[in-house]
Amino acid sequence: MIKFELPPISAIESYELCISKVRVMQSQPDLKVRFESIAQEINTRENTYIDHAPKYDLHLLPKDEVAIGSVTNKELVKVYTDRMAKEKAAGYSIYSRIMVTQGDLKMCPYCGTRPFNTLDHFLPESRYPAYVVTPCNLIPSCSECNKEKHADVPSSQNDHYIHPYFDDDTSSEWVIAELDATWSAVSYRTTSPTHWSPEQLARAQHHFDQLKLAELYATYSADELACQKLTLTSLTETAGIDITRLHLEKQLEAARSINVNSWKAPLYRAILNSLPDFLEALSD
Ligand SMILES: [Zn+2]
Repeated sequence: MIKFELPPISAIESYELCISKVRVMQSQPDLKVRFESIAQEINTRENTYIDHAPKYDLHLLPKDEVAIGSVTNKELVKVYTDRMAKEKAAGYSIYSRIMVTQGDLKMCPYCGTRPFNTLDHFLPESRYPAYVVTPCNLIPSCSECNKEKHADVPSSQNDHYIHPYFDDDTSSEWVIAELDATWSAVSYRTTSPTHWSPEQLARAQHHFDQLKLAELYATYSADELACQKLTLTSLTETAGIDITRLHLEKQLEAARSINVNSWKAPLYRAILNSLPDFLEALSD
């Protein structure tokens, strides 16, 4: 989908800032000390994550731990919700930095279609408390993808989502569009580049199916297909099919430069691949 730069913020920097304003309270006199006691463990866990993620081995990390050291799962989840995700929280500056490190496009890396507006825990916080505020596990995403992913966890190399910080699928075309027989609707599916392993294809398929991208892309492409019909018919009438093809190739190039595997580039390619038949059908 879209490759993102790994935020230049370590887990320990993030965690220590988040817990920096924990007060010694009568009800929980040891909370601050307990939080501080696992800082090194949070650091160690991040190293393990960074070691496993590029190898698609995140399913090997321990999940559903009830506590990290003396800090419970529930307490760690609250470090994120109360001490990072809230606007006045001590760790909110980290939240904001992660959200702004990806340039001006602000497109959700999972679907490549909707703008991002929230942070998704790549490994869900409820099942992986050690990574609740670890930046390499926090992905700017749209709320729809965040919701579709919910608490899914990988169980093998075949069912990881595409990780925006560690995976790069942008050099391979693996989403294709197909026009229906009446040239009035587009459907999307995955295809396997020749150099891909079965595991790579399985992961892409998992990502595509779980996030319901076929339905999403078909919806987005409907308007564009209607526009292209008018534009291409008119252009062919005035300038001929060769200029129309050139125009479409430029559009494909521009769409590919932004995202090879979203709905636009595959749509333009599908039209290009059947341009004479497409134009002939429109002229009938
Ligand atoms: Zn999305």
